[in-house]
Amino acid sequence: MTSIFTQIIERKIPASIVYEDNSHIAFLDIYPFEKWHTLVVPKKEYETIMDMPEDEYLELQKIVLQIAKHYEKILWCGINVVQNNKAIAGQSVFHVHFHIIPRLDNSKPVFFESSEKYWENEVDIYREKLSLLNINS
Ligand code: AMP
Repeated sequence: MTSIFTQIIERKIPASIVYEDNSHIAFLDIYPFEKWHTLVVPKKEYETIMDMPEDEYLELQKIVLQIAKHYEKILWCGINVVQNNKAIAGQSVFHVHFHIIPRLDNSKPVFFESSEKYWENEVDIYREKLSLLNINS
């Protein structure tokens, strides 16, 4: 059974994609801790980073950093980058992913209990702005 993220990569289920290349994809988290909470995922379905060859891990990190810096510039706020590992921090999808979580509201804990909600059309309006597709082409 393929992971939910592979199903997104294969366009079997929808997602708001902000970046994609041959080996990586980034899309908005469906239950965002904060607006524009984004997941960066290698297309190869590794369970955890421990399974990844170093070069692929470093390539993934490059993309994570690029997106985090882009969001910082566009959103004008601090950006947290989090990687859950099943042994330590309750990873729930067993396909490597990094969370990029903008800190738009400093008064809230990063891992807030309830999800943020987007207003109608907000994702479509901002996705193009947040997208890195333009940057790398
Ligand atoms: P983790 O607990 O680190 O494994 O996080 C998995 C993340 O995947 C959670 O933040 C979920 O909200 C997110 N997620 C699960 N299904 C989807 C989906 N279909 N589209 C986008 N994000 C998802």
